[in-house]
Amino acid sequence: MADDILKKIIAHSKEYGFIFQSSELYDGLSAVYDYGQYGTELKNNIKAYWWNAMVRLHENIVGIDSAIFMHPTIWKASGHVDAFNDPLIDNKDSKKRYRADVLIEEYREKLNQKIEKELSKARRKFGESFDEEQFRTTNPNVLRNQTKIDELNVRFVKALEDNNLSELKQIIIDSKIVCPISGTSNWSEVRQFNLMFETKLGATAEGASSIFLRPETAQGIFVNYLNVQKSGRMKIPFGIAQIGKAFRNEIVARQFVFRMREFEQMEMQFFVRPGTEMEWFEKWKANRETWHKALGLGDDAYRFHDHDKLAHYANAACDIEFNFPMGFKELEGIHSRTDFDLSQHQEFSGRKIQYFDPEINKSYVPYVVETSVGLDRTFLAILSKSYEEEQLEKETRIVLRIPPALAPIKVAVMPLVKKDGLPEIARNILKKLTLHHNCQFDEKDSIGKRYRRQDAIGTPFCITVDHQTKEDNMVTIRDRDSMKQERVSIDSLFSIVDEKVSMNTLLSKLM
Ligand code: ATP
Repeated sequence: MADDILKKIIAHSKEYGFIFQSSELYDGLSAVYDYGQYGTELKNNIKAYWWNAMVRLHENIVGIDSAIFMHPTIWKASGHVDAFNDPLIDNKDSKKRYRADVLIEEYREKLNQKIEKELSKARRKFGESFDEEQFRTTNPNVLRNQTKIDELNVRFVKALEDNNLSELKQIIIDSKIVCPISGTSNWSEVRQFNLMFETKLGATAEGASSIFLRPETAQGIFVNYLNVQKSGRMKIPFGIAQIGKAFRNEIVARQFVFRMREFEQMEMQFFVRPGTEMEWFEKWKANRETWHKALGLGDDAYRFHDHDKLAHYANAACDIEFNFPMGFKELEGIHSRTDFDLSQHQEFSGRKIQYFDPEINKSYVPYVVETSVGLDRTFLAILSKSYEEEQLEKETRIVLRIPPALAPIKVAVMPLVKKDGLPEIARNILKKLTLHHNCQFDEKDSIGKRYRRQDAIGTPFCITVDHQTKEDNMVTIRDRDSMKQERVSIDSLFSIVDEKVSMNTLLSKLM
């Protein structure tokens, strides 16, 4: 079922120019994707929503665009050379490779789903009088699965913290986790695998030095902290935002744009006075939750998940998870990174990275709270919740209910027929609208077919010019979601459209 939905979204993305497999002509490159004409528009709109929410709406956040190539010592200092590893495991029968931690997490999620199933069954049965707390503490099935989860968690977290790879394997064996392809538990040992891509900088083999493609954009912010703070005369607390590509040689790269080897991140590092980081951590959690929910994809599609094991740099961390077609998975990470990164760069570069805080008359290495969201995962979240096969009286229509401010095309302007001066009137309307919004002119096929085409790419409005328009200066405006058609004057069009599709309408929900 979940697989079906994902398959449909992949097929729809290809058919309508949202996402193509990279190098498809040459049979494709695994876990690398190209964004097509509508996908690029949607992606740009997501970026604009994030950028404006961060940089425009916050006086104390500025944005930068740092290079993908960086000095190799940066990745030594950040810990990526030594510790940016994933534990991999192979199934000897299917020859498929998995991430050991992900296999365990998925098993745990299955147990969770069993509990949820019992709960919703009981909720239906008992109705109003249902007492969830009592049910959780007395129902034998729920209790059995909860005990399994709790015991698993204790072992799992300890194994991760101790970096105990054989224990990770033992958990997989003891939990009877089998390979979904072969159905067997004929597992290899668990090994660590570094995710960074390495390449050469320089023309000759002898003179070339090894560098990495950045696995995250954050380090580009850290190494520019002093530049930005000084040149912008920034006062703590302040943030630096960045959108850019990151590269990871992912072990298992399936599930479409959820896990890619080349992807984009939208990251913001917020520099604060030591001791205030927990307060900011909570503030940023709330802020990011609001940003996501303002999209209107449904509040229950999100949940917070505290990390099982804190990364080497963090003193608090949580994920915002989204209910993707494959279940709840990480969409964004919010981390309190202490002064780890700046201190490391201070040590490795030999340059002082400190802030003099006039309010307390003291110098210190700032602490950092980071928000890091995947652009492609946000794209998939929006696409998967927007996609609907709607049953109408005589047919079904595929409609993408993309949040209007993010829709690739905001308005399609259509003359009813290709003659009698209607195209000219339509083009005049188009000319005015395109100054403000991305619009399309569509005069081919019947109006019904044109509506369906626009529904399939998520266009919020269609405007039709007909013969009557020549007499009364009125047009028909059709709403994507309700399919309601209304006759309005050409003059009023602009405010109707603007009200619904402008980025500012969306941004105002955050204020
Ligand atoms: P995961 O546990 O799923 O591998 P992560 O915890 O390693 O993710 P972070 O390092 O916190 O991810 O990166 C921040 C964000 O970047 C993630 O929340 C996710 O949205 C995005 N991201 C990370 N890896 C990928 C990838 N391979 N493809 C697409 N997006 C990614």
